[in-house]
Amino acid sequence: MSSTRQARLDAIAAEIRAHGPCGFEPCQSCATFVPGEGSADARIVLVGEAPGATEDRLGRPFVGAAGRFLDTLLAEAGLAREQTFITNVLKSRPPGNRDPRADEIAHCWPWLEAQLAVIEPELVVPLGRHALARFDRTVKIADVHGRPHEAGGRSLFPLYHPAAALHGGKLRSVLIDDARALGRLLRG
Ligand code: URA
Repeated sequence: MSSTRQARLDAIAAEIRAHGPCGFEPCQSCATFVPGEGSADARIVLVGEAPGATEDRLGRPFVGAAGRFLDTLLAEAGLAREQTFITNVLKSRPPGNRDPRADEIAHCWPWLEAQLAVIEPELVVPLGRHALARFDRTVKIADVHGRPHEAGGRSLFPLYHPAAALHGGKLRSVLIDDARALGRLLRG
């Protein structure tokens, strides 16, 4: 592992955790900031929308019910969580899990850009339509999920949000198929 890269990621995480009052509601009301976690040498970076209640309590991304299903999806792709880097567009939980506002996203965006600049992943995996929209506003997730998609100079591999499959329905098997396709792509 590159210790320099890890040190740079750790410095970004420390900056996020030390972020002071800024007037934005999620940053003011969250219990803990959730910078993200994983390998500095990850080939893929998974990007969700914003921390939920469990993440807010524990300071870690995707550790609630959606996170457990994300771990299943990673296993289907042949990946351990530790081989990836997992983060969110927003680094603090919007109150009541409301959708993030455009100015809140803009406020947090430089941290995500900095993380991506350090890791330089082969693929960014936006989870769900909200995260996808941060990278490409021109497409719908229904049209681009489960396959590589180039946007803004980045290679994306959009997946539906794992939470969307928690209550059964066909999205669960779509997500599993898409995760397997991701694994095949990474294995070349
Ligand atoms: N949903 C997200 O988008 N991110 C998390 O970290 C947890 C749930």
